[in-house]
Amino acid sequence: MNNPDLIYETIILGSGPAGLTAAIYAARSRCCPLMIHGIQPGGQLTTTTAVDNYPGFPEGIDGPELMENMHLQAKRFGTQFVEGVVTRVDLQERPFRLWIGEELYRCLSLIITTGASPKLLDLGNEESLYGRGVSVCATCDGFFYRDREVVVVGGGDTAMEEAVFLTRFAKRVTVVHRRDSLRATPVLADRALTNKAISFKWNSAVTEIIADTSGVTGVRIKSLKTEEESELACDGVFIAIGHQPNTTLFSDQLEIDDSGYILTKNGTETNIPGVFAAGDVQDNQFRQAVTAAGTGCMAAIQAERFLDDLPYDPNLSCQKGVCQPKS
Ligand code: NAP
Repeated sequence: MNNPDLIYETIILGSGPAGLTAAIYAARSRCCPLMIHGIQPGGQLTTTTAVDNYPGFPEGIDGPELMENMHLQAKRFGTQFVEGVVTRVDLQERPFRLWIGEELYRCLSLIITTGASPKLLDLGNEESLYGRGVSVCATCDGFFYRDREVVVVGGGDTAMEEAVFLTRFAKRVTVVHRRDSLRATPVLADRALTNKAISFKWNSAVTEIIADTSGVTGVRIKSLKTEEESELACDGVFIAIGHQPNTTLFSDQLEIDDSGYILTKNGTETNIPGVFAAGDVQDNQFRQAVTAAGTGCMAAIQAERFLDDLPYDPNLSCQKGVCQPKS
């Protein structure tokens, strides 16, 4: 049970590449930030197999192994870890307050790295087929579809980018989109529409992902105009229907854009001094492990500067990243 009298200098919420990089930097500069991670430590990368584009690993590295390495590195410099789902926060005054159920945690600076979750089609078997034909990241997994046939679901910028990217590997890319026009910005839409390796199934929905024991073998597609159903054989299904940033906890306290992303300025500062946001929770554009790690580093440096600039509090005694009231 946490001692509610303690005030952590820095709490990091979320343990993907942004959070763990923030932890490595914060732990090395000031010692002992507290990281609160949920039931899926490591974040989205733990659902990918090989990560081929994280610099420093010429042969690639498995997503879970990369995250475990970052975890060990953060631990080595003194990060403390607590598992739990934060259910409530109060950022209106410092120390900021966070609750895991009834358990209270207080801190002088907070780094939010709660990430974003890819939206799924709710077909029942999507998550169990991750790594066996279903993917939510062409940049991560496209390479494994050399000379294969793939389906991309969605009509936005992400879907068009993914479809075009996948033509480097796949022998056929079929975009399945629920309307007869694309949401994507014209430049990305044109790039996909004029690419001869991409065909489009308009006004259509994927209603089933067909798989055998080795993975995806096809999809069932329903025409939303005629209700007609058909099957399309394929080896991979890339779901690109948007991401949902994990910001529900903060929606009434931080400035958030129309899509739910935390608004940041000057790097990772939010509208509340002392609260920083890094990684996919504030990035609706790049969403790469390496960019998340980069903003995590920025958040730790900005949190350190913020702590350095706080006026001396004669009532607090601070040691190894934790303060308590002087008795
Ligand atoms: P998005 O713009 O929200 O597009 C999602 C697409 O998926 C839409 O076409 C939508 O259909 C479709 N969709 C949503 N729910 C669906 C469902 N349940 N079943 C089937 N289709 C569904 O998401 P995004 O493409 O990930 O882009 C997110 C943001 O990032 C955008 O602001 C985008 O501009 C930005 N972005 C920018 C770049 C770039 O500039 N290079 C690259 C990627 C993303 P409808 O069209 O019918 O709604």
